[in-house]
Amino acid sequence: MQDCIFCRIAKHEIPASIVYEDDMFVAFLDIRPINKGHTLIVPKVHAMTLLDLPDDVLREELVLAKRLAKVILEVTGFKAFNLFNTNGRESGQEVFHHHLHIIPRKDEDGLKLSISPVQYGEGEAKELEELIRKGMEGK
Ligand code: 5GP
Ligand code: ZN
Repeated sequence: MQDCIFCRIAKHEIPASIVYEDDMFVAFLDIRPINKGHTLIVPKVHAMTLLDLPDDVLREELVLAKRLAKVILEVTGFKAFNLFNTNGRESGQEVFHHHLHIIPRKDEDGLKLSISPVQYGEGEAKELEELIRKGMEGK
């Protein structure tokens, strides 16, 4: 897409600290890193969210995430990381070109992924379990 910032980075039209590139992906350092080495994997094909991404690209992306995460940990000395992905505004997505975050983590780095859990009402979890199980049939 012409005015998509990640498409433009993938086409080398605007600069980024590119740490890896092949035919399908570009990976570069996040401009506002949660920790040093925070990297974004971006497929070259423009897809808004993970749901829009072709399955073959998604498979390759996960394999690349594993390879890249290993190297990032080796190089930075971090021992842990989160693989993180936003899909839709309410999830915190700011750039509407699908991407995976590789976020190196350390104790007390301030990133909080936990919240106070919501409570299921009587029979609600069972109902949802059945709805999702049924919805998955043939999908
Ligand atoms: P989202 O919230 O959409 O999952 O994350 C988008 C990420 O892209 C943010 O962490 C943000 O810092 C990063 N980002 C946004 N614009 C640019 C840019 O122009 N260059 C780089 N390197 N990262 C960017
Ligand atoms: Zn794009």
